[in-house]
Amino acid sequence: MELFFNNKPETKADLKESVNYEKIYDTAIYGAGPAGLSAALYTLRKNMKTALISKDIGGQVITTWDVENYPGFKKIGGYDLSKKMEEQITQFPIALDEGVSLVKLEKKSVFEAHLDNGKVLKSKTVILALGKKYQELGVKGEKKFTGKGVSYCSTCDAPLFKNKTTVVAGGGNAAAEALLELSKIASKVYAVIRKEHFRADPVLIQKIEETKNIEILFNHSIQEISGNEFVEKVMIQKKDTNEVKTLETDAVFVEIGLVPNTSFECVPSLTINDQKEIRVNNKGETNIKGLFAAGDVTDIPEKQIVIAAGEGAKAALSAFRYLQNQ
Ligand SMILES: Cc1cc2nc3c(=O)[nH]c(=O)nc-3n(C[C@H](O)[C@H](O)[C@H](O)COP(=O)(O)OP(=O)(O)OC[C@H]3O[C@@H](n4cnc5c(N)ncnc54)[C@H](O)[C@@H]3O)c2cc1C
Repeated sequence: MELFFNNKPETKADLKESVNYEKIYDTAIYGAGPAGLSAALYTLRKNMKTALISKDIGGQVITTWDVENYPGFKKIGGYDLSKKMEEQITQFPIALDEGVSLVKLEKKSVFEAHLDNGKVLKSKTVILALGKKYQELGVKGEKKFTGKGVSYCSTCDAPLFKNKTTVVAGGGNAAAEALLELSKIASKVYAVIRKEHFRADPVLIQKIEETKNIEILFNHSIQEISGNEFVEKVMIQKKDTNEVKTLETDAVFVEIGLVPNTSFECVPSLTINDQKEIRVNNKGETNIKGLFAAGDVTDIPEKQIVIAAGEGAKAALSAFRYLQNQ
C-alpha cells in the first residue's frame, strides 16, 4: 500500500506579482519581517487582495545567525527561517514590492501611502509591521564609516575581524553577546560602557569577566570615530574626569539597542508611546479605524519572532473582520 500522505512533494508555486498602483487593495502591509509575513499569510488565506511593501524580506531575522526558539525547529538559521516564511506566502497571489519604503501614510476615503519609489498605494486597511532598527551612537564619523568598520550586527560582521582589534559600544545583553562572539575571533576587544556596570544577564557578565582578551572601560562614551578609508581610531571620554583618550581599532560594533521604525510621516492622530512604539490593543487595532499594527513596532511586551508572527496573524484577522463589518 502506498503511503501517499507522507513525503508529499512541497508546493513550489510562486504567485508573487508586482504591486498595481492603480488598484485599491483590501489591505496593504508595510514591513516583511515575521509580523508582516505572518499577517500576509492570514490575509491571503482569507482571499483578501493583499499588497506587501518592505525595505527587505525577513527583517531582523536575517541578521540572526541561529534561531533556537521558534516552535517546530530545534535550530534554524535566521535567513532560512525567513526564506521559508516568504515561500509560504508566495504560494498565494500576493502583490509584493521589495526595496521600497513607506514615507507617509494618510487616511482619506481609503488609506493612501506615499512610498519612496514615488508611487501612492491605496488600500481599505493597513497593517504596520515595520519592526525596529539599530540605534545609532550619533557621533562624528559613525555614518561615514558605516560598512567600513562601523557595524550594528556582530553576528553578520564579526568574522571580518579575525585577529584584529575591535570596540563594542553598549552594556546590555546584545553588547555582551557581541563581546563574547568577537573575543573568539578578534585578538582584542574593548568594551566601552557609559554606565559603571553592565545591564546584561549575570551569566554573560561572568563569561566576559573570565575572558582574557576583553578589556572593559566603564564610565566611558565614544566621542568620535576616525580613519582614512576604514575605521582606525575611536576617541573615548571618561564621564567623571572628562579625560579623553584614543583607542586604535579596526572596527566599532554599536550594540546600544533598537528603536521602532516610526519615523515615517503618519496619520497625525495615531497614538504612539514615549518609546515611539505604536499603541495597539489585544486585537492589533490602533486608535485609527482600519489601521492595525503588529510586532516589534508596537507596544506589546517582549520582542520575539514567535510573538511578532502571532501578533501579525491577529492583526490580519482583525483587518478581515473590520472589512466584513463595513
Ligand atoms: C541580532 C538579533 C538576534 C535575535 N535573535 C532572536 C532569536 O533568537 N529569537 C527570537 O525569537 N527573536 C530574536 N530576535 C528578535 C526578533 O528578530 C524580532 O522580535 C522580530 O524580527 C520582530 O519582527 P517584526 O516583523 O515585528 O519586525 P522586523 O523583523 O524588524 O521587520 C520589520 C520589517 O519592516 C521593514 N521596514 C522598516 N521600515 C520600513 C519602511 N519605512 N517601509 C517599508 N518597510 C520597512 C524592514 O525592512 C523589515 O522587513 C533577534 C533580534 C536581533 C536584532
